[in-house]
Amino acid sequence: MIAFEQLKVDALLVSALPNIRYLTGFTGDNALLLVTPDSTTLFTDPRFTIQASEECSCKVKVPSKGQLELAAAEAIKRKRLKRIGFEASRIVYDGYQRLKQSLPLGASLKALGPVVERLRMIKTEDEIARIRRSVLTNSQAFSKTVRSIRPGVSEAAIAAELEFQMRRLGGEKAAFETIVASGARTALPHARPTARAVGKDELLLIDMGACQDGYMSDMTRMLYTGQPDKRLRHMYQAVAKSQLAAIDAVRAGATTGQVDRKARQVLESEGLGKAFVHSTGHGLGLEIHEPPRVGKHDKTRLEAGMVITIEPGAYIRGFGGIRIEDTVLVTQNGCEVLTPTSKELMLL
Ligand code: ZN
Ligand code: ZN
Repeated sequence: MIAFEQLKVDALLVSALPNIRYLTGFTGDNALLLVTPDSTTLFTDPRFTIQASEECSCKVKVPSKGQLELAAAEAIKRKRLKRIGFEASRIVYDGYQRLKQSLPLGASLKALGPVVERLRMIKTEDEIARIRRSVLTNSQAFSKTVRSIRPGVSEAAIAAELEFQMRRLGGEKAAFETIVASGARTALPHARPTARAVGKDELLLIDMGACQDGYMSDMTRMLYTGQPDKRLRHMYQAVAKSQLAAIDAVRAGATTGQVDRKARQVLESEGLGKAFVHSTGHGLGLEIHEPPRVGKHDKTRLEAGMVITIEPGAYIRGFGGIRIEDTVLVTQNGCEVLTPTSKELMLL
């Protein structure tokens, strides 16, 4: 799986917990993993002794005292490993220093890019099944909650209800801080829910995701409390058209940059190019944001089994913002939109 020769290392020291979970099944929140071509060793602390023995089939070491890096360095010495790759964008500086200082003579550290994240881009059948369940839970939590939304209810209360429903439906937590924004606050793409009550004749943006069995989902839907005017209806149609155009471009072999450009072209032709201030989407799985990115300058070639979001948006200060987001599975000839929730602007 890991191309040690190509990477020019004898071992990979994994510090990102989602990567450790992917490689071993360990779900605890403190660990290091040393992977060589013929061995996998998990280092964790005594709080996780039982859990690690239940979850992992690899070797588990629980140092009775001292930091995990020191235990990893000892294993490196014992196995006479020389070139140790580490996750440059994932290691903590303190941990890096400890590792460097305790390495045996002759061993060296090599900074590596997203090695495990690249493996994670293409999902297994089991992972796809988990993402499907997460997506379903998320959409069900949404439909159970929208019934109770009416003017006078606060953004924070709506967010709380969404997350409550997710957990009741089998999710272990929200995939990220649920975004609920009303009125002109919808122009903030990542608004935090506040005590503000939703007014009459107002836009409402809900961006939510569930985490179920470790796997994430992500969806954005728009609601309106009243009858939207012409400007708003035009803006909604433009974003919807942009989202459909991007979905239409998703297939194995297309680059993520091409998908992003499809979304962007539609919004540009509708006079909303400058209002689209983020990228079109992102991969998701064990993490809510993981490779591939679906942005203007990204060149990742899509492959069947990748799961990405498609979420163009347009944001105008003082007026409001609109985003429509689905979770999508890349297939050989196109894609499958996993999100079952209707994309119509929901009128309350
Ligand atoms: Zn989202
Ligand atoms: Zn997203």
